[in-house]
Amino acid sequence: MSPAVDATEVRRRTHELLAAHPPATTGRTDFLKARFDAGLAWVHYPEGLGGLDAPRSLQQVVDAELAAADAPDNDPRRIGIGLGMAAPTILGFGTDEQKRRFLRPLWVGEEVWCQLFSEPGAGSDLAALATRAVQGDDGDWTVDGQKVWTSSAHVARWAILIARTDPDLPKHRGISYFICDMTDPGVDVRPLRQITGEAEFNEVFLSGVRIPDSHRLGPVGEGWKVAQTTLMNERVSIGGSRIPREGGMIGPVSTTWRERPGLRTHDTHQRLLTLWVEAEVARLTGERLRQQLVAGQPGPEGSGMKLAFARLNQEISGLEVELLGDEGLLYGDWTMVRPELVDFTGRDAGYRYLRSKGNSIEGGTSEVLLNIVAERVLGLPAEPRNDKDVAWKDLSR
Ligand SMILES: Cc1cc2nc3c(=O)[nH]c(=O)nc-3n(C[C@H](O)[C@H](O)[C@H](O)COP(=O)(O)OP(=O)(O)OC[C@H]3O[C@@H](n4cnc5c(N)ncnc54)[C@H](O)[C@@H]3O)c2cc1C
Repeated sequence: MSPAVDATEVRRRTHELLAAHPPATTGRTDFLKARFDAGLAWVHYPEGLGGLDAPRSLQQVVDAELAAADAPDNDPRRIGIGLGMAAPTILGFGTDEQKRRFLRPLWVGEEVWCQLFSEPGAGSDLAALATRAVQGDDGDWTVDGQKVWTSSAHVARWAILIARTDPDLPKHRGISYFICDMTDPGVDVRPLRQITGEAEFNEVFLSGVRIPDSHRLGPVGEGWKVAQTTLMNERVSIGGSRIPREGGMIGPVSTTWRERPGLRTHDTHQRLLTLWVEAEVARLTGERLRQQLVAGQPGPEGSGMKLAFARLNQEISGLEVELLGDEGLLYGDWTMVRPELVDFTGRDAGYRYLRSKGNSIEGGTSEVLLNIVAERVLGLPAEPRNDKDVAWKDLSR
């Protein structure tokens, strides 16, 4: 970490960027590229890769200065998988060339990423995955298999992909991690319609997809270790994003409560207050978690945060629907749309209620996260596992 970079220096560099590229007269993408090149994209990343090797906490200084100058941001919700999952994995395990090639267009938002992990027979038990990657004589890989629940695959340019490279090894040891080109002719993306009526995620069929060996992340056979970095970061990015006081899910129901006194009862008052306090505790815990992240990779604490987030989102949106009575049962539009991002802003209570159901499944189910907290945070005995030393090909499926 660079000791020379403090808040004053970061502020100076931000003003320099704004002077050289005034947001009012600079195109959005040009501004974002200049910001990346100035090391002000994610200040805790290395110099030359969008950062300054500075403490992560200094990012707030940059963001506040840029917001005050009305500068465009990179729309983090649209590129959440790239920012929250692909980027830390590439940073942790990528070669210099991979970091140089992928991080800038990822951060700027020119290239959207998706995550090809889950399969019909491998969700919670992700290490059981069956998608095969076979290396040819030229060193490159051919991938065949099926992935499922792939958010944003329909808009993605690249995917982080895990596949089985050695079926003779126990399931955790025969997996490798790749960067997959979503424009390869062997990639077939098909929509999956959700309870909301929308299709934000997909089935993805991979048939003879070619991946150059230069797009492998980490050593052959160590994909499970690499994937842990992705998964830990995923839980933090789902459960711990920065929100202002009374922001996030508790915001709309609090507004409804204030604006529509006729809907109130003693019971809903009591429940709203309890949830408001819990939402605030979760928000402050998330803030603390982010400060801990300054030190490096997230630990299992992120799983606890994501667990709390899923439960709260479901309870809060349930209360909002109940509070609104008949009106809460109305649902705007059932036409299947293919959203580019999951955005709760401006959506009705019915959408928030239905979409929140997925919160306890995506990024690891709540039951599985409870296991992680039990074993890795509380140190309770691990679940019995009888498949650790058996070759994957000999496991019953
Ligand atoms: C909105 C949404 C977006 C998603 N986006 C992506 C994506 O972009 N990319 C991707 O790869 N995946 C994605 N997923 C998939 C998600 O990661 C999986 O759905 C999840 O890991 C659960 O796997 P599964 O659906 O196969 O359920 P299963 O693993 O079959 O689980 C079924 C039930 O059994 C329980 N269970 C399983 N094992 C245990 C255990 N050991 N102890 C206790 N209970 C257990 C589970 O909690 C669950 O209730 C997404 C899912 C959703 C809902």
